[in-house]
Amino acid sequence: MKTRLNCPCGEHIRGEDENDLVERTLAHLAERHPTHDYTRDEILFIAH
Ligand SMILES: [Zn+2]
Repeated sequence: MKTRLNCPCGEHIRGEDENDLVERTLAHLAERHPTHDYTRDEILFIAH
């Protein structure tokens, strides 16, 4: 299961599970990268 994602801006995002990771990543994107619109699949593709 993927629970970590390193955002290109240098932010390290961790979730309890994939759903949590996607939620946290979307929240980070909305706050820091409002022009980036990633889907769940795209987020999980760059997660590890
Ligand atoms: Zn970022």
